[in-house]
Amino acid sequence: MGDENAEHTEKATRAEQPEPGGSGADAEPTRRRGPTRRALLLGGAAVGVGAAVLARDELGRLWWRLPGVVKKRKEGEVDARGAQWTAASSANWRRADRPSDYDIDRVVIHVVQGGYATALKVFKDPGHGAAAHYVVRKDGHVAQMIRELDVAFHAGNRSMNERSVGIEHEGFVDKKSSFTDAMYVSSARLTAGICERYDIPVDREHIIGHVEVEGTDHTDPGPHWDWERYLRLVRRERDRPARAGTPA
Ligand SMILES: [Zn+2]
Repeated sequence: MGDENAEHTEKATRAEQPEPGGSGADAEPTRRRGPTRRALLLGGAAVGVGAAVLARDELGRLWWRLPGVVKKRKEGEVDARGAQWTAASSANWRRADRPSDYDIDRVVIHVVQGGYATALKVFKDPGHGAAAHYVVRKDGHVAQMIRELDVAFHAGNRSMNERSVGIEHEGFVDKKSSFTDAMYVSSARLTAGICERYDIPVDREHIIGHVEVEGTDHTDPGPHWDWERYLRLVRRERDRPARAGTPA
């Protein structure tokens, strides 16, 4: 944040809008289709019942990695256990098929510069031009507004949007009391689940603040956000045996 705009988040720039078949200079084509080739080879080697079964199992395990396989979507479905679905306006995100079309390797932490209700309201407003995947409330309640499959316009940077999941936290960057214990724990659990789903390392290179996104003029989450504590909590949640790391 850092600007006076009460309702956090950037307006989406032109550069963020979909370009058919387009890939920015920052696209990472080489990392996208690895499993496909492997799956095809397995398919080709599927002679005899045993091999066929093996190939089918392998394909079953990797099917979600195959480009062109459109994953089933159900209205109201969430990626994080315990999150409550409430849809953002479709003008504030772009349909995608992550992680098949884009690898996800970043989590971006935001602060709303306003309350939870305000965040939900503006993310549902098609004129806002921006929204995050998740909004975390002071009491730890989590709203999911955009599927992790899709690209949310939250970082003000196209390639960062394509590779990341964005989490908003209600409150203000200059108000330390915004960040409650319940919020830290709940957000850390959410991030731990994201890191597990996409095999993202739990460190400050991969879990970043909006302020660290290249080219941004936003300052969130600000100086009061306790990164050391947050990462400690994410690791704790990640290592918890029955942690909410699997899709709901
Ligand atoms: Zn932000």
